Amino acid sequence: MSGEKVHDLVIIGGGPAGLTAAIYASRGRLDTVVLERGVIGGQAAATEIIENYPGFPEPIEGPELMERFEAQAKRFGAKIEYGFVTEVDFSGDPKIVKTDTTEYRARTVIIATGAQPQKLGVPGEEELAGRGVSYCATCDGAFFKDAELAVVGGGDSAVEEGIFLTKFAKKVYIIHRRDKLRATAIIQERAFANDKIDFVWDSVVESINGKDAVESVTLKNVKTGEKKDLPVQGVFIYVGLVPQSQLFKGKVEIDERGYIVTDEFMRTSVPGVFAVGDVRRALGRQVATAVGDGCVAALMVEKYLSEQEVV
Ligand code: NAP
Repeated sequence: MSGEKVHDLVIIGGGPAGLTAAIYASRGRLDTVVLERGVIGGQAAATEIIENYPGFPEPIEGPELMERFEAQAKRFGAKIEYGFVTEVDFSGDPKIVKTDTTEYRARTVIIATGAQPQKLGVPGEEELAGRGVSYCATCDGAFFKDAELAVVGGGDSAVEEGIFLTKFAKKVYIIHRRDKLRATAIIQERAFANDKIDFVWDSVVESINGKDAVESVTLKNVKTGEKKDLPVQGVFIYVGLVPQSQLFKGKVEIDERGYIVTDEFMRTSVPGVFAVGDVRRALGRQVATAVGDGCVAALMVEKYLSEQEVV
């Protein structure tokens, strides 16, 4: 229990959106707690380099950028605490956020829980997770020196991480279900110019095979129906993201794809509860858009609290 103390703001999630909200709120002298269940910085901290965050004309490493966000939030007095949120109750005032060890009471809450990798849902994926199947090249790439690897997907993540993996692997096959990539043009150009990358177009993974570790993937060409086994020692899956909103089902409005619905001011369907970043229904999934969300939400929290005082 955090006792009878009622915080001005509890932020659930310490990625770029949550930390930005923490910077603005604590600078506004709100008593602010950020709850993080794992590594501070979210997906950005698992990204090797970030080269499209304004102000850094030279690429900056994701973990370093996120350490800077964290240091800036702490400098203004935000408290960062670790815990797995198990339950929320937004029905009363204060709002309650329970972790496995502590119950927090807060006048406002910002949901900044982000998203996690979408699973492919094929045989072998679960069985061989951690034994060649990975969703994080930055975390696991170095285990695959001189290996042959498959990367599944055609978006920014698949292509960027595929390029990153060529630092270790001798060959990277990017397996995409269409014959055109979704990734940003500059990332595509780099991948096409990389000798270690081969593209397998119009193909889906039917199964991931291996006894104790990944040995191959079975691919199916969606145009011809032809199947083949591709020998690889690792499979990195980047087929999109799933918003981390399960905890909030029935508590705030969530759309059919699991994204929390907000207005342009980051307000959810519950007064005093805001949502920011990748868990929110929005267009961009960038550090820059997360930062914008976090800033707006913190300003709205200040406004909401000052209006409550007037009443
Ligand atoms: P994404 O943009 O949603 O791309 C997912 C890719 O996986 C698409 O190419 C999609 O194919 C493919 N796919 C989806 N389901 C599949 C399935 N069941 N089997 C095979 N392929 C499947 O996801 P993301 O690359 O993870 O990126 C998520 C967001 O983060 C995006 O908004 C992205 O722009 C952003 N991001 C930005 C950067 C950056 O700015 N540097 C880096 C990483 C991520 P189709 O193309 O056919 O739909």
